[in-house]
Amino acid sequence: MSARSPTGCGRRRSARSSTPPTESPAGQKLRLRQEYFFTSAALQDLVRRHLRVYGDLRSLPDKVAIQLNDTHPAIAVAELMRICVDLHAIPWDEAWAITRGSISYTNHTLLPEALESWAVPLMERLLPRHMQIIYLINAHHLDAVRAAHHGDVRLLSSVSLIEEGHGRRVRMGHLAFVGSHKVNGVSALHSDLLKRTVFRDFHAIAPDRITNKTNGITFRRWLQQSNPGLTGLLVEASGPAVLDDATRLEGLTPLAEDAGFRDRFAAVKRTNKEALAALIRQQLDLRVDPSAMFDVQIKRIHEYKRQLLNILETVALYDAIRAQPHLDWAPRVKIFAGKAAASYHRAKLIIKLAHDVARVVNGDPTVRDRLKVAFLPNYNVSLAEMIVPAADLSEQISTAGMEASGTGNMKLGLNGALTIGTLDGANVEMLEHVGADNIFIFGLTTEEVEARRHDGSHGAASVQASPRLGEVLEAVESGVFSPTRPGATATS
Ligand SMILES: *Cc1c(COP(=O)(O)O)cnc(C)c1O
Repeated sequence: MSARSPTGCGRRRSARSSTPPTESPAGQKLRLRQEYFFTSAALQDLVRRHLRVYGDLRSLPDKVAIQLNDTHPAIAVAELMRICVDLHAIPWDEAWAITRGSISYTNHTLLPEALESWAVPLMERLLPRHMQIIYLINAHHLDAVRAAHHGDVRLLSSVSLIEEGHGRRVRMGHLAFVGSHKVNGVSALHSDLLKRTVFRDFHAIAPDRITNKTNGITFRRWLQQSNPGLTGLLVEASGPAVLDDATRLEGLTPLAEDAGFRDRFAAVKRTNKEALAALIRQQLDLRVDPSAMFDVQIKRIHEYKRQLLNILETVALYDAIRAQPHLDWAPRVKIFAGKAAASYHRAKLIIKLAHDVARVVNGDPTVRDRLKVAFLPNYNVSLAEMIVPAADLSEQISTAGMEASGTGNMKLGLNGALTIGTLDGANVEMLEHVGADNIFIFGLTTEEVEARRHDGSHGAASVQASPRLGEVLEAVESGVFSPTRPGATATS
């Protein structure tokens, strides 16, 4: 499988769709052509500019950095070799030094569907010269591995650029690794998992290749532009240098004990929440109380990100409030936003369930302002800039080992939301920086998830162990939230 197919299950598209599904031969061919087109255009432009200034490709590694942003442009390795060898008559070994010296590779996910591979016959038809070059790169690469680890046949086939199993395929992640002088993951956990999982054998033969560059966010957009109130308060408290030097935020620590500062911080948050409440009213015709806790999960809809878990918790809270409406419940607004990939059927069911639960909860007079559910449509950066400054609680609850880094976690933390999350992606490093008293960590570790996958234990056991979970699932399955189509649930 290649390209993005988040479900792994079959895709169907309407007859009107202008692009074919990527699993079809026509879709595969189109995808490869697009990737080659953009990669080649970028490299040709880069080489043209370099030659105009320096006149010689041998200085390329000293003057440019070509960063493969995920696996999709990995064909750049073969394309730059073609440009050097075929168009500029540079000998192979020198061309290889130029290519590897210029290129490095950022891996963005461990999900297998993002590590592309192309059928050899497709490559031979579409990019015959590149296929020859890849074979030659592979021959040199395997010679070097053979020389260093003689006789290890398993290792050779594992690190080969060609997958020899059912139908020969070119492994583009392997091509990116071999053609790069550095390979990086995007959080400490993710980089460590790269070494232990998808690139385990490569890490054994090239132990200095994989490095970590934990993702970051721009404070200009996610603080100064989107939250002028908080920015003003920070400048007032720490001086204008804080705008250019985020490490100066550490100087705020003593102000945690300053009641006046806390009041001003709360006033900024309140103003931001009023603005979001107005947007929710305008978009959803729903009134929410700005003094309630704004509990926020905004990100692409995906099973591993576990919006479903958050919805089930919402139902559990709804049931609990209804069972004991006289208790002093902390008022809460559950805020969701996010898009599903066009063909990701389960993700779309999760969106539907969130809307179904919202309709029932928001229309129930017994819960009143103690629980509201808002799913804002068309999640994008502009909407994120409205929600992030208004959040009290940041939901970062992916299954450990699945989220490479996350950046929503950082945006929301920067704007003063507390995080509830799992030990996944950059949450791990956020915990190290803020300390366990300032973050709510729960759930299995990556290792425990892995063990759980192998020990054959089943979800049914967890349902058995939690009567509350059982009741929630029963309510969803009974159709309480979807009276017209009780069978169509994301939990089934
Ligand atoms: C930051 C951001 C993301 C990434 O969010 P995660 O919580 O890290 O998955 C996705 N979409 C938009 C619009 C964003 O602003």
